[in-house]
Amino acid sequence: MPGKVLLRLDPGAVRDLASNLAGGSILISATNGKTTTTRLVSGAIRAAGQEVVTNAAGANLLSGVAAALAEAAPRTGSAACGVFEVDEAALPAVAEAVQPSALLLMNLFRDQLDRHGELESIAERWSRMLAVLDPLPHLVVCGDDPLLAALPPAGAPVTWFGIDDPSAGSASLSHASDSTTCRACGTPLQYAHAWIGHIGDWRCPSCGLARPRPDISVVDAGLDGARGSRPLIRTPEGDVRLALALPGLHNVLNAAGALAAAMALGVPAATAATAISAVPAAFGRAEAMSVDGRRVVMLLAKNPAGANENLRTLMLDEGEHDLLVALNDRIADGRDVSWVWDVDWEPLLPRVRRLTATGERAHDLALRFRYGGLPEDRLLVQPDPAAALEAALAAVPPGGTLEVLPTYTAMHEIRAELVARGVAGEFWNAP
Ligand SMILES: [Zn+2]
Repeated sequence: MPGKVLLRLDPGAVRDLASNLAGGSILISATNGKTTTTRLVSGAIRAAGQEVVTNAAGANLLSGVAAALAEAAPRTGSAACGVFEVDEAALPAVAEAVQPSALLLMNLFRDQLDRHGELESIAERWSRMLAVLDPLPHLVVCGDDPLLAALPPAGAPVTWFGIDDPSAGSASLSHASDSTTCRACGTPLQYAHAWIGHIGDWRCPSCGLARPRPDISVVDAGLDGARGSRPLIRTPEGDVRLALALPGLHNVLNAAGALAAAMALGVPAATAATAISAVPAAFGRAEAMSVDGRRVVMLLAKNPAGANENLRTLMLDEGEHDLLVALNDRIADGRDVSWVWDVDWEPLLPRVRRLTATGERAHDLALRFRYGGLPEDRLLVQPDPAAALEAALAAVPPGGTLEVLPTYTAMHEIRAELVARGVAGEFWNAP
C-alpha cells in the first residue's frame, strides 16, 4: 500500500530512489525460488560489509520495490545495494524503473497460466526488455534452462551458472517438463541429464545449439534429505563447499545462482559461501517448527515443477509420511488448479500413512489422490485449514513429522494458525 500511494503521487519515485543507491541494484526473477534466493544474495552482500535494501516480505511488484526503497531512504548509507525479488511478469517494468546493475534470471516453469500465459510469452517479454535496457546490466543466468540460455543479446556481459553433477537429477525428462524444443530451430532437445523439469544438460541434435558451459557450477549436489544439503560449487576463484539449511536440488541451484550473483557484484566467493550457508529458510519455504512434540515442515508447492521438487526431497527420507496438502484457487494461487494432475504424487502415495487434503479445492485434491491410488482410509478431506491442521497433527505420533504442502494463500492461512499457537513468527518478522 505505501508503494502504491507513492507511485500515485510520484510515478518516477522508483527511478529517483534507486539511482541514489551507490552500490547499485540487482533484480532477481524466476518462477520458483525468488524469495529464497533474494535472501541468500542479501546475506552475501551484507557479509561483504555493504548495507542492503530489499523487499523482504515478498512484495515483488513495482509497488513492493517502491515501498522498500521509500522505507529505506532516510536511513541507508550512500553505499547501499538494492536486492529485489521481482515477479516474472513485472520484471520489464521494474527493470526499466530501477536500471539495475545486475539481473539474476533463474528459471521459467509453467505457473498461473491464467495470469502469466504460456512460458514463451514471459520469455518473449524478457527478451524485449533486454533489447531496450541501456546500459545492459550484468546478466547472471541459469544456462541449464534452455529458455533462458537463448535470452542474452550477443556480446552481453553474462555469468552462466548450472549443475555438473551427473548423480543428481535423472537421465530423462519427466512428463511435467516444459519448454523442450530448440529456441533456434524448433527441434526437440536432447538431454544428457535432466536436473529439475526441463532444466538440465541439453543440446539440440539438429542445429548444435547447446547449454552454455557454466562459469559457476555445482559439481557435487550433496543432498541430505529434507534436512539440507552440502553442495560443492566450482567458481573461477576455486571450489567452495556450502552447508545449506535448505533441502533439495532446486535449493542447491538457487544457492549457485546466489553465489554467482554475489560474485558478479564483487563479493569474494569464500565470503559469499559462508554467508549463504548461514541463511535460514524463508517463511513457508522448508520452514520447520515444533508443535506439541511433533515437527512441522512447510514446503510451498504452487506449480508442478516446485511441487515435484518438494516431493522428490521428501522421498529422500525413509519410512512413512504424514502429509497435509492445501489447495486454494485465489488470484495469488492461480485460479486454474488443473496443475495438480501434472504433479508426480504417485511414487510418494504408497508411503503415506495419513494424507489430509484441505483448502477451498480440497475435494479436487482428494480426487487427484484417489486416482493416484491412495486408499480411502488413509485420506481425510477437511476444507477448513484450522480444523485440517488439528486433525493432521492428531494423526502424527509424538516425535513424528507433519509435512505441509500448501499453495501460496493456503500457506499464509496455515502459518496464521501456527502463529496463533505461538510456534511461528509473523511472516514479516520471520528470519
Ligand atoms: Zn536447434
